[in-house]
Amino acid sequence: MTKMKLKPGVVTGAALQDLFAYMKDAECALPAVNIIGSHGANAALQAAKEAQAPIIIQLSNGGAHFYAGKFLKDGIQAAIIGGVAAALHVRTLAEAYGVPVILHTDHAAKKLLPWVNGLLEHGERYYAAHREPLYSSHMLDLSEEPLAENLEICRHTLERMAQIQMTLEIELGVTGGEEDGVDNSAVDNAKLYTQPADVLAAYDALRPVGNFTIAASFGNTHGVYKPGNVKLTPSILKNSQDEIRRLRGGGAKPVDFVFHGGSGSTPEEIREAVSYGVIKMNIDTDTQWAWTRPIKQYMDEKSPYLQSQIGNPEGEDKPNKKYIDPRGWTHLGERGMATRLVEAFRDLGALGKFEL
Ligand SMILES: [Zn+2]
Repeated sequence: MTKMKLKPGVVTGAALQDLFAYMKDAECALPAVNIIGSHGANAALQAAKEAQAPIIIQLSNGGAHFYAGKFLKDGIQAAIIGGVAAALHVRTLAEAYGVPVILHTDHAAKKLLPWVNGLLEHGERYYAAHREPLYSSHMLDLSEEPLAENLEICRHTLERMAQIQMTLEIELGVTGGEEDGVDNSAVDNAKLYTQPADVLAAYDALRPVGNFTIAASFGNTHGVYKPGNVKLTPSILKNSQDEIRRLRGGGAKPVDFVFHGGSGSTPEEIREAVSYGVIKMNIDTDTQWAWTRPIKQYMDEKSPYLQSQIGNPEGEDKPNKKYIDPRGWTHLGERGMATRLVEAFRDLGALGKFEL
């Protein structure tokens, strides 16, 4: 199979659909990493450069607020403006790193619709000026609502997004565990496994309107936990693909699936899910740990040099400036995150599949 050739910058519209189609054929997927600031964005860009593959950079509502600064108290406004700032940062640097990027926002429940609508207003303005949207895609997670209402709001939003060539990610069923303040760890077990009938209903509702991806539940959980009674069952994705192909046609894998809660999964589980049409795997907890761990190690090892600005084990008049400078230890976090992401590219079969 010839490698897909991509140019640096943000991938949107038809080019994004071509990329998803290629990945389903090539049986690979991309990591979608949550960022909360420019350092994380830069680490993600570096990871894509090392992997020689596109990367999906995404912000949760909380992450977008944090990007603007926790100091700002109007949560929705801060998350809109933080999301815009992050997108402009990534757009500015993607070419410098020489990598293609898919820009995305993560879970938005019903109460966060004003956040997505605010981002869409900025996206429409950006489209008017540049003939492409600011973001490649947004996610709506209305899995807490009845299916009909979930699909109705998604259809309505996708009508608007299709005008500016954006892709919508939806959620069917519930991802277990806890993320960004939403705790689904006590949810009914049946909801943790999406039914093929629900995937078909979503396909029928959205296919005539625009481009979409589906985060389906197959026992996946946010966060990393000790193995419990929830079993990862990627075959659920295969059953849905088979059912839709049988009833509606549309190629070997008609649906573009998203794997939430990728952290803590084994390479075998990931490979199986990817073979059934997963094109995006979210990773957050593992990259948070990859960021924090080397910094903790640094703080522990350099502790005697971090007690005051002057004076350390080498002498009471020795300056500690070089140990205190946040650039030194912040970069350790960036490096840790980039390295962990390259591992994710490998697990997802994305190494050697692209020409940048
Ligand atoms: Zn998720």
